[in-house]
Amino acid sequence: MAAWACISDKSLKRLEKVQSRCLCGILGAKLHTSTDAVEVVANVTPVRLRIQELCTMEYVRLMQKPEDSVLGQLLRSSSVTNNKFTPMSYLKYLATSFHRITDNAEIAPEHKTRPQMIDLFEGGNVSQLNITSEAGTDCVDIANAVTHFISETHSSTVICFTDGATTDSEVGAGCAAAIVIPPGPDSKEIQATELLDKITDSIETELTGIAIALEIVIGLFTSGTVVAWTNTVILTHCKAALNIILESHVYGNYQQIIARIIPSLLKFHNMKCHISLGWIPSHAGIDYNEQADTLAKKALKDSPISAKGQLSLPACKKMVAKNTKRLWQQRWDHSTTGRVTYDLIRTVGRSTVFPSDRCCAISYCRLLLDDSTLNVHQFRAGLAQSKLCDCAQGVDDLQHFFFECKNYKTIRHDMIEWVQSILTLVDQHKRPNLSTSLLLAPSGYRQISSRVSGEILGCTFEFIGKSKRCL
Ligand SMILES: [Zn+2]
Repeated sequence: MAAWACISDKSLKRLEKVQSRCLCGILGAKLHTSTDAVEVVANVTPVRLRIQELCTMEYVRLMQKPEDSVLGQLLRSSSVTNNKFTPMSYLKYLATSFHRITDNAEIAPEHKTRPQMIDLFEGGNVSQLNITSEAGTDCVDIANAVTHFISETHSSTVICFTDGATTDSEVGAGCAAAIVIPPGPDSKEIQATELLDKITDSIETELTGIAIALEIVIGLFTSGTVVAWTNTVILTHCKAALNIILESHVYGNYQQIIARIIPSLLKFHNMKCHISLGWIPSHAGIDYNEQADTLAKKALKDSPISAKGQLSLPACKKMVAKNTKRLWQQRWDHSTTGRVTYDLIRTVGRSTVFPSDRCCAISYCRLLLDDSTLNVHQFRAGLAQSKLCDCAQGVDDLQHFFFECKNYKTIRHDMIEWVQSILTLVDQHKRPNLSTSLLLAPSGYRQISSRVSGEILGCTFEFIGKSKRCL
């Protein structure tokens, strides 16, 4: 558990050294390369920050335990002895920053007993629906398949679209939305949104969307607006939320919202009504889906939420991970080493794309890390007599290697031609000039899409490979 918690600084430094050496070995980087840069290129969190992350999550898990649990009591009663942290008091110390980032929100208690929905499924009242699988990946075909489905079933089915939104990409304040279309040609659709009064994650907001839809449909049935034997279809783009309901796994993590969904499912069961849950892709131009998305986002923007409710374990985990990334970014921004790599890769926490050929991958990696067998690097390390290239026409640096050296004239011609043809996909006014940083880290350019970036990297890898140099 908290074995890492009260580790001495000396041991910590040793661990950092071990991690750095391992990463250098895996990446093929030279041993004296900046550790900060190596970690960013490898996308591996620095040891200190990772330990903080693990220990904070340990704190969260212990706080979920009931008041009378031994571990919970140990945590609450721990204190610093002789100016040294005990594992538990270290966890408590980290909790200060956890409570700050979560606005002192309470952590939801753990739930050992998982709610059973199995009976409902065995009765055949809830099933999975697939309406877009045959449409392939083309957005127009998918949107058409959904429109076709609606027109085919609308006369006898309540169709619901649900969505959720969070202030940050996956965690933060949240809002859920549902659009319910009652059956019949003149039916008026019902729109509803609900703000979640706590820090939440994307899956919980999506589950809330489904809960709202179920409640609206039950309202329609009980008020007699819609005949209760009508089928209900709920469509969402969140596979995780569907799986939680259909396959009944990770219930414990979203206990609160599941506890709200179950009574609705039970009512459907008692009324002998059938529900189908279906997945549809997001951002495929499906009209109602886009509407639900806009509804949720707008409601979230219009009313800032005071985060008071209890935090689920996944929301805590995402908040902690987000905070770790923020601290790592700060560390990278202010580091005094690896600055050439920093100019290429500014953002931490992104995976680097490597070529499949190991030799080429090592060369590419060393170029990113500004420590290769180019003469300019060898000279700096005292391993070469001169910075000059073998062609004797210039300093053997990145610029010379990629754009000037006469030894690579033919392969360069191909590469430049390719890269320039790929760049025609970028808006003319925002098109970047050919440069070593464009070739090595195209994803650092905002105006370049991931597809274009991948194509450019492909050209770079091919050039490095064909140059036959082991950099
Ligand atoms: Zn040369």
